Amino acid sequence: MSTNRSWYERASVVSPGGVNSPVRAFKSVGGTPYFVERGQGAHVFDVEGNRYIDYVQSYGASVLGHAHPRVVEAVQRAAAKGTTFGAPTPGEVLLAEEICSRVPGCDVVRLVSSGTEAAMSAVRVARGATGRDRVVVFAGCYHGHSDGLLAGGGSGVATLGLPASAGVTRAAVAETVVVPYNVVPELGPEVAAVVVEPVAANMGLVPPAPGFLEGLREACTRAGALLVFDEVITGFRVGPGGASTLFGVTPDLWCFGKTVGGGLPLAAFGGRRDLMEQLAPLGPIYQAGTLSGNPLATAAGLAVLSALDEEAYEQLSAYASRLATGMEAVCREAGLAVTVPVAGPLVGIFFGDRPVRDYDGARASAATGLYPGFMHGLLERGVAIAPGPYEILFPSLAHDEADLASTLEAVAAVVAALSARS
Ligand SMILES: *Cc1c(COP(=O)(O)O)cnc(C)c1O
Repeated sequence: MSTNRSWYERASVVSPGGVNSPVRAFKSVGGTPYFVERGQGAHVFDVEGNRYIDYVQSYGASVLGHAHPRVVEAVQRAAAKGTTFGAPTPGEVLLAEEICSRVPGCDVVRLVSSGTEAAMSAVRVARGATGRDRVVVFAGCYHGHSDGLLAGGGSGVATLGLPASAGVTRAAVAETVVVPYNVVPELGPEVAAVVVEPVAANMGLVPPAPGFLEGLREACTRAGALLVFDEVITGFRVGPGGASTLFGVTPDLWCFGKTVGGGLPLAAFGGRRDLMEQLAPLGPIYQAGTLSGNPLATAAGLAVLSALDEEAYEQLSAYASRLATGMEAVCREAGLAVTVPVAGPLVGIFFGDRPVRDYDGARASAATGLYPGFMHGLLERGVAIAPGPYEILFPSLAHDEADLASTLEAVAAVVAALSARS
């Protein structure tokens, strides 16, 4: 019989931990992951036929909901014409034009296949263009799993990077400095780049404190360092121009991913022309990719972006704010202290009554140990949120009133059970 457990057991024989990306394995919440058989709109269906209202939405890579007809058709049409060539295609030009026209200050982009590649390459451009080595990142932000950006140890105080993973050498992170989020760091003349999630969405949801992004812009300009916005989550998600437009702060370089690929493996990095034109073949900074700008992915990305007009963003944000207000009210009624931060269409959840503004705060919330029970309680009631306390909720354009009502009902039932237990 096809069960989640049987697939997980088979997967665990041939894949490390049964998964191709660690968070999917449910390690931090316990239990067996559901194996998705298909998705439709706001919902996913597992191999046992259970339906979930899906707020994972591929961690933000899906914004129209699953299997949107526009995307399906675009991908089918592209596939019928050949899936990869090793020569440039019109789709790459169209998507690059679309990105540059939506994001003021982003003159030139290069397409890649993952957010990891985008962030890694943006850092290379920053180092190549400035002739400096050091990179400043913020504790709790995530920029993919390239060696130089897998630095940890930063919590509370600024620390020189320590390897955040076995297999990352000390040398690889020796020029990565980790500082607390929402505090503008001092920058020396050795700093090539400050890399930041303009809305942190990989330690739960932590919006930038007023003045933080402006302060970073000023500090970078003063120090001759480049400001890199990692908008892999926020790009084309928090608004048509992403976070830089929303907050009115223009970085030198951007990383995009998730939304922009329309659910296919596509990401991008871009920025000022004088910086980006130092990339090969024009300049000395090397970067390449066999499947970069893949025609299926550009077709999907274009299909999604073309559906994201002002009205779509209003709808997404309205849904997110109603979800947040509803969740907060339901938890308050049950006597469970939570904060539910919102940034446009993004929703987070922290247990505890203190607003979270950095990784220490996010860790304190996770340390309450309430997330696993919350997540599993929702899953049992047909609502899927990410299996980890540092992830966020991604409402899609396919979520509707009925989904919202069912979600809030499920949350009410779960928090009643949780607060009865505590
Ligand atoms: C997901 C993510 C990445 C990495 O993207 P992948 O496509 O998983 O490699 C980088 N930065 C941020 C902010 C992300 O959320």
